[in-house]
Amino acid sequence: EAKAKKGAEFRVYDATMNLKVMQKVELESEAREALRGNQFSLALQPQIDMHSGKLMGFEALLRWYHPKKGHISPGDFIPLLENTSFMLELDYWVITRSTHLVRELKNSGYPDIKVAINLSAGQFLDPSLPEFLQHQIIKNDIAPDQVCLELTETVLVSDIKRATEIMQTIRDMGCMLAIDDFGTGYSSLSYLKSLPADYIKVDRSFVANIANSADDRNIVHSTISMVRNMGMQVVAEGIETNEQYELLCHFDCHQGQGYLISRPIPEVNLWDTLSDKVENGFWKDFA
Ligand code: C2E
Ligand code: MG
Ligand code: MG
Ligand code: MG
Repeated sequence: EAKAKKGAEFRVYDATMNLKVMQKVELESEAREALRGNQFSLALQPQIDMHSGKLMGFEALLRWYHPKKGHISPGDFIPLLENTSFMLELDYWVITRSTHLVRELKNSGYPDIKVAINLSAGQFLDPSLPEFLQHQIIKNDIAPDQVCLELTETVLVSDIKRATEIMQTIRDMGCMLAIDDFGTGYSSLSYLKSLPADYIKVDRSFVANIANSADDRNIVHSTISMVRNMGMQVVAEGIETNEQYELLCHFDCHQGQGYLISRPIPEVNLWDTLSDKVENGFWKDFA
């Protein structure tokens, strides 16, 4: 009897959930087709040294150009694909493509440029990640520290012990790790201290207000000093104004990215942009 009741409850719940489930399944099959049809590409956003203006690397950001729907933003499709088997496939495609790009940069006279890759929770926990990564690094003959993996706090807090072990494995291979969107999750200082990370990326929502909110200014300033004291580096994301840039420089922030420096550059335009903008490794406008 209890079982029957449970079944009935489930059916009620199921009816309201139907639409969402349908959309997700539909999206997943469309996305599978899109990958086969070359509708996915990368856009690369420069990450520069705040003080010298030197180009340090690029963050690889996924782009989906749908022939009928146009551009679909990763903020719209990634959360829906999260936890599907396809998301894992797409994540591995991003690693393959990004590491190959580092190789191409090397061939074109940019031997030290790094690439930062965003990982979904599923991929971070996937047992085949370290081996896959290692294989791509060897295949492309690039240095492991030219690859940085970006993880969000939410990926880490679900199982901090396991997460720390995986991070250690990846770092033992010589790859870099960044904590993305720092400040938006549930991070505490004690957890930060124990994390084997190289970079902390201060979330854009804090950077956006540093010029007009004393609170956000203080948060960002003290985060930078604290992270520095722990032996890690800070990357500020979403720098949009000169005022924000100057404040961050003044606070001794290591690296930055944002529309002020450059919007994400579609892969097809990367080579032209590089030869236009970069001389001797410097992203001139902000040197
Ligand atoms: P994220 O990793 O925090 O990436 C930064 C986002 O901020 C990007 O949005 C970027 O285009 C945007 N952005 C950069 N500078 C500025 C700025 O100055 N102002 C403003 N308003 N925005 C700026 P995008 O490309 O739409 O990506 C959104 C999120 O989707 C990313 O956030 C990341 O979490 C996820 N994502 C993107 N590519 C991938 C991927 O290949 N794999 C996975 N798993 N997630 C990805
Ligand atoms: Mg990121
Ligand atoms: Mg981020
Ligand atoms: Mg973000």
